[in-house]
Amino acid sequence: MHRARKRFGQNFLQDDGIIYSIVALINPGPDMHVIEIGPGLGALTIPLLRNLDQLDLLEIDRDLVAYWKEQNLNDLTVIEGDALQFNFLEWAKNRPHKKGFCKVVGNLPYNISSPLLFHLVSSASQIDEQIFMLQAEVVERMVAKAGSSDFSRLSVMLQTRYDMELVLEVPPEAFEPKPKVNSAVVRMIPRKDFNLSNTQWGALEQVVAAAFSQRRKMLRTNLQAFAERLSLTELELKARAQDIPVERYIEWAQALAS
Ligand code: SAM
Repeated sequence: MHRARKRFGQNFLQDDGIIYSIVALINPGPDMHVIEIGPGLGALTIPLLRNLDQLDLLEIDRDLVAYWKEQNLNDLTVIEGDALQFNFLEWAKNRPHKKGFCKVVGNLPYNISSPLLFHLVSSASQIDEQIFMLQAEVVERMVAKAGSSDFSRLSVMLQTRYDMELVLEVPPEAFEPKPKVNSAVVRMIPRKDFNLSNTQWGALEQVVAAAFSQRRKMLRTNLQAFAERLSLTELELKARAQDIPVERYIEWAQALAS
């Protein structure tokens, strides 16, 4: 029997109702191409396979990779690797699927959730949808709107690239071993109107990091280094980073990069 490894963030889903709801949200079907990050012991994998012609698994734990290879299932490709290093762009390009049917899913290891979400941004042009279970507090920050105390660097960067929605809340009791925190499922769909170049994305990272560097300080202080080029209004100079909508940060990134 597999012993859950803390260093790989292993909390295995046990609750059939929650598993059913997540699989329904993923909505697997023929012609769809799905990669599951961290299949673990297969809570999502097995029900997904019932409705997919083909499923790819990406797993870092060698024992679990061996376990899946031994199953010798026809419709399954098992990839041993670290999701933080994996090239999702190449994967998506090399897997034929119907337009709109390329999905990345998983009950993610919470210890790497933010870096993984940022890593996936670079593949968003080829991915149609991401459905992830994460720590609830992280999902709340991802979907928070300007003006909320949860609105943060993560909200601005990810909302620039994705439309996102918290779709399911999951209590610790749904897992074994139980995590210490609440969890939530988020749906992420790459924005069709995203048109920032790499330079503009880099400028966005800079201006957002500076704006949120001291949350309680006014932008007059935090954005001092950029003030001349951004033509901030009097109101904006007195505002805090959490009060500025995502679209305004995007305008600032475009101005900085031009
Ligand atoms: N999907 C299973 C479930 O819902 O019961 C397991 C989820 S568990 C929270 C996270 C899974 O991700 C584990 O199988 C773990 O070994 C795997 N994992 C951890 N770090 C990883 C990484 N960097 N790359 C790929 N898989 C990873």
